[in-house]
Amino acid sequence: MPKCKVHTTIALMKEDVDIEKVVRQHTEMEEFFTGGFAVKGKKAQREHGTDDEGGAEAAMELERVAEEVQKCHKCDLGTLRTNAVPGEGKANARIFFIGEGPGAEEDAQGRPFVGRAGQLLDKIITAMGLKREDVFIGNILKCRPPENRDPRPDEIISCLPYLQRQIELINPEIIVALGAHAARTLLDTNKPIGQLRGQFHEYYAGIGRPPIKLMATYHPAYLLRNYSQDNRKRVWEDMKKVLAELGLPIPQYG
Ligand code: URA
Repeated sequence: MPKCKVHTTIALMKEDVDIEKVVRQHTEMEEFFTGGFAVKGKKAQREHGTDDEGGAEAAMELERVAEEVQKCHKCDLGTLRTNAVPGEGKANARIFFIGEGPGAEEDAQGRPFVGRAGQLLDKIITAMGLKREDVFIGNILKCRPPENRDPRPDEIISCLPYLQRQIELINPEIIVALGAHAARTLLDTNKPIGQLRGQFHEYYAGIGRPPIKLMATYHPAYLLRNYSQDNRKRVWEDMKKVLAELGLPIPQYG
């Protein structure tokens, strides 16, 4: 289990956005993350089994974790949610993307990353030559904080065991921590995301278990709000390192 000191400093993401700007950003982001890439060489694919016995067992256990999450009232968020959002994806995924916590759309649907930030995450995954079904996607918090406020330390402490169990069951080769909250919580640090991103760290997976490589990168919602070619390139550089580490083909841009 990772050390459980938690840190909670990330700028609040305001909802009062300029719609035209958002639409423009989305269009340009789509072009950046899906338009210009062509996978060179063989198609990006997981090299070892997908539906093996281990995967099936992990899938059953992940289902049990999801059932527990859906009944959870360990913190106040349990009374405020429409739906808990346990996470979803391939039980034996090589990559586990971990965000901060559900937003309005995720709370409504009970699924992670299905709102605007999720659409961008899907594009990033596609740009990597992968499909959403190839990876696992989850969050530090399983229930939506009101008004999308920052997760509170007590909420993270209550919720973290679910994520730790999911990581243990999936046993991914790489964790991608999306944004400051995920990166700081999983790495037990309060360093800024700008310092954490772009390099591999080690997630301590528990006694007797080898550490898991963790790449921190900007949260897709941050990218949508701090739209620049530089930021998009930074995220893409981070994802290229993930692909290289997994021995997967790196799509070329342009
Ligand atoms: N942001 C997150 O961090 N997680 C989600 O599931 C959606 C948006």
